[in-house]
Amino acid sequence: MSLRVIGEATPVTDDDAFRREIREWLAAELTDEVRGAGGVGRENEAFEQRLAFTRRLAAAGWSTLAWPAAHGGRGASLAQQVIFHEEYARAGAPSRVDHIGTTMVGPTLIDLGTPAQQRRFLPALASVRELWCQGYSEPGAGSDLAGVTTRARLDGDRWVITGQKVWTSLAHVADWCFVLARTAPAPAGGPRSAGLSYLLVPMRQPGVTVRPIRQLTGDSEFNEVFLDDAVTEAELVVGEPGQGWKVAMATLAYERGAATVGQQIGFQRDLDDLVAVARTTGATADPALRERLTRAWIDLTVLRTHTLRVLRDPQPAASSVIKLLWTRWRQGLGELAVDVLARGDADPAAVARWQTYFLFSRADTIYGGSNEIQRGIVAERVLGLPRQARG
Ligand SMILES: Cc1cc2nc3c(=O)[nH]c(=O)nc-3n(C[C@H](O)[C@H](O)[C@H](O)COP(=O)(O)OP(=O)(O)OC[C@H]3O[C@@H](n4cnc5c(N)ncnc54)[C@H](O)[C@@H]3O)c2cc1C
Repeated sequence: MSLRVIGEATPVTDDDAFRREIREWLAAELTDEVRGAGGVGRENEAFEQRLAFTRRLAAAGWSTLAWPAAHGGRGASLAQQVIFHEEYARAGAPSRVDHIGTTMVGPTLIDLGTPAQQRRFLPALASVRELWCQGYSEPGAGSDLAGVTTRARLDGDRWVITGQKVWTSLAHVADWCFVLARTAPAPAGGPRSAGLSYLLVPMRQPGVTVRPIRQLTGDSEFNEVFLDDAVTEAELVVGEPGQGWKVAMATLAYERGAATVGQQIGFQRDLDDLVAVARTTGATADPALRERLTRAWIDLTVLRTHTLRVLRDPQPAASSVIKLLWTRWRQGLGELAVDVLARGDADPAAVARWQTYFLFSRADTIYGGSNEIQRGIVAERVLGLPRQARG
């Protein structure tokens, strides 16, 4: 029950008007062609249509809501960002194709890019004319990111880059990649992260080869990226050469923010859908499955409440705690779905969807920093345990 004083009119706030504005925009623009498209393990689904929709969203100023007005954004408050993501997810709008660009590279360039880099890239990012991918991980460097061995050397007015990246999401559609590469040896006795640089590299050039990796789901959302004397202009290094670690970490910190709230509304929709499937398979008659469905709802309510709290009142290692909670939740829902489907005949489309969900959610605890790494962060930053020895 909500708390409201009877007889007192609820004032219309700017946030209410903002909510109405995004609702009306979505009602006018959201077509059946893209409704519900994309999502867990379905990153290639209706890609062109989702791209077109994302561009319309951008043209209306919604995709760069959080960017400052001076850089073409709307400078929206945190509350308004939350409202946008809530409404977007509630309306069943498609999963966006500009996430890496507008929420990772854009804010990085706004904070740490040169004015020339900002002029060159921000307009194309804001209008989703150019898509981006993230070139951090390598076959020998994932959790231990400072171990990247891709090298770049300055040759006149350009960087020449050689090495291999892996698990590069959406590299097959990207125009640009932000690449972490070694441009100088790490100083003896100094941190291994010193000497790394953050380079902006065009993907469509002879020195770049993208090879899709077939995933457990049968789809290929990520890729191997081979850099064989790939080139980029000398000025397309963000931050000082050799000091790219700080920039790389800043990019990771922008990764989710208020969008987490929208993700959780999507989780609620997933749970509602699974409950509907459970009714058709008869799983609702099984006390153990009923209890797991109920627990999923309770855990999601707790997760959502906690997320809203830490968005307003930041806590140490908050993003690690949220990632640990949501990844466990989504993997749990995938496992529950398999058990629900096993109880009886479900619609084949539902079976296919939940199979993909189950399989893809296995990756949740790996990407964006594995759960072991997140627990290590909590151990050090919250509990103050001694730092883990690193090689
Ligand atoms: C779906 C998906 C999309 C991805 N997209 C991208 C992308 O777009 N760009 C990109 O650069 N990368 C991407 N990645 C890569 C991702 O960031 C790495 O997989 C992740 O950082 C783990 O690195 P790794 O795979 O090399 O595993 P490793 O680092 O080799 O880890 C192997 C295991 O050891 C554990 N481990 C490692 N170090 C420690 C430690 N210090 N303490 C405790 N346990 C430890 C890990 O938790 C893991 O269980 C993606 C991965 C996936 C699954």
